[in-house]
Amino acid sequence: MGVSGGKRFQHLIDPQNCARCGSCESECQVAAISHDERNYAIDHDLCSGCQECLAVCPTGAIDSWIALADAPDFPVAEQLTWSDLPRAPVAAADIVHLLEPEVAVAHVHAAPASAATPRVNLYAADAPAHARVCENRLLTATGDVHHIVLDFGDCEMPLLEGQTIGVLAPGTDANGRPHAMRVYSAASARDGERPGTRTVALTVKRILQDRDGNAVRGVCSNHLCDLDVGATVDVVGPYGQTFLMPDDPAATILMIATGTGIAPMRGMIARAQRLPAQARPRLALFYGARTPEDMPYRDELEALAPDTLELFTAFSRMPRQPRHYVQDAIVLGASRVLEYLRDERCHIYLCGVKGMEEGVDRAFAHVCADGGIDWSALRERLRTSHRLHSETY
Ligand code: NAP
Repeated sequence: MGVSGGKRFQHLIDPQNCARCGSCESECQVAAISHDERNYAIDHDLCSGCQECLAVCPTGAIDSWIALADAPDFPVAEQLTWSDLPRAPVAAADIVHLLEPEVAVAHVHAAPASAATPRVNLYAADAPAHARVCENRLLTATGDVHHIVLDFGDCEMPLLEGQTIGVLAPGTDANGRPHAMRVYSAASARDGERPGTRTVALTVKRILQDRDGNAVRGVCSNHLCDLDVGATVDVVGPYGQTFLMPDDPAATILMIATGTGIAPMRGMIARAQRLPAQARPRLALFYGARTPEDMPYRDELEALAPDTLELFTAFSRMPRQPRHYVQDAIVLGASRVLEYLRDERCHIYLCGVKGMEEGVDRAFAHVCADGGIDWSALRERLRTSHRLHSETY
C-alpha cells in the first residue's frame, strides 16, 4: 500500500498479464503473496512495500497499483476471483515519487544502462497477435523439447533478446474460463530467427509431470508442441524490461543456463554473432542439462565454441557419475570466471530452474574467495549497476 497526498494506492497483480510462474511468491520475504489454482494475490496487511517482487515478474503483471480514495481495500479472497483488474492500474514508476519515502525503495533491478528500449504490452488477450507456425522440430533425444518458430507476417512483434511473449492455448479450464497465458522467452535475435523477417523462435518443453513427478498435461506446452507447420497461434505481449542485453561493444557477457533456460541466451548469442566483429561482446556460457542428448541446441552451441562462445557444460544424469551442475562447472572454470568477474563491464545472466540461483551464488562466493574478491560486495555492485539479471522459475 502506498500513500500520496491522502490518496491510497493498493498494490495488486493483473490477472490478465500474470504468467502464473510463482516468481513473485518465491521472492516475497514476508509471505504476502499467495495463489490458488487460478490467480496470484497480494495481502496488503502483510506486504512490507519492499517492491522486490517487481523485479522478478516476467510480464510486469505485478506492477499494478490502483488508487482507492475512500473505497475499502480489495481483500485476497476477492483478488482470487478476478479475471481482470476492477479498474485500470498505474505502474509504480508513475506514482513512486508520490509514495512515502519508506515505500519507494530504490530499484536495483533494471535493464543495463545501454540496452535498447523494449516495447511491451502491444497485444492483450482480447486482441492477440496471430502468428503462423513455420517450424516445429524436436531438439532433444529425451525430454521432448521443441524448437518452434512463429512467423508474425505483417503483424508487428518487436522483441529484444531476453523479452518474452505470452501464448494463449485455445479452450477453457475446469471453471469454464479461458486458459491463462503461458510465457516463453524469445530464443531468437531482434531481427528475427530468419534475419529480416518477423520470425520468433521459442524453446518449449512438453510438460507431462509436475515438479513432484506426478502426471500432468501442461495445457500450453502440449498445445504448442503438437502444432503442425501452418497452424495459427494467438500471442500476447511482448513483456520484459530488465533481462536485456547491453549495447556496449566493450561489455562481456557471462550466461548461466539450465534446460530450456537457454532460450534467451540463444537470442543473445545470435544477436552478438550478427554484430560487426568490432561491436561484438565477449560471451561465455555455463550450461546444465541432464545428458548431452538432452541439451537443447547442443550442436549449434558446440559449433560456436571456442571462438565465438566460451562454452562450459555440466551434465547431471550421466550413468555411474555423480550429478554435475552448472555451479560445479563454475567452480571448475574458476580462472575464466574470475576474469569475467574482475571486468567492470561484465554482465551476468541466469536463466532456468529456480533452484540454481542458490547454488550459483555459492559457486561465485567460492570462486571469489579463492580469487581474493568479496562476493557480497561485488554482487551488490553488479545489482546496483544493473549488471546482474535472473529469470528462474
Ligand atoms: P530440467 O531439464 O529440469 O533441468 C535442467 C538441468 O538443471 C538438469 O541437469 C537438472 O538436473 C539441473 N538442475 C536441477 N536443479 C538444479 C539446481 N538446484 N541447481 C542447478 N541445476 C539444477 O530443466 P527444464 O525442465 O528445461 O526447466 C528449465 C526452467 O527454465 C523451467 O523452470 C522454465 O520455466 C525456465 N525457463 C524457460 C524459458 C523458456 O522460454 N522455455 C525461459 C526462461 C526460463 P537434475 O534434474 O538431473 O537434478
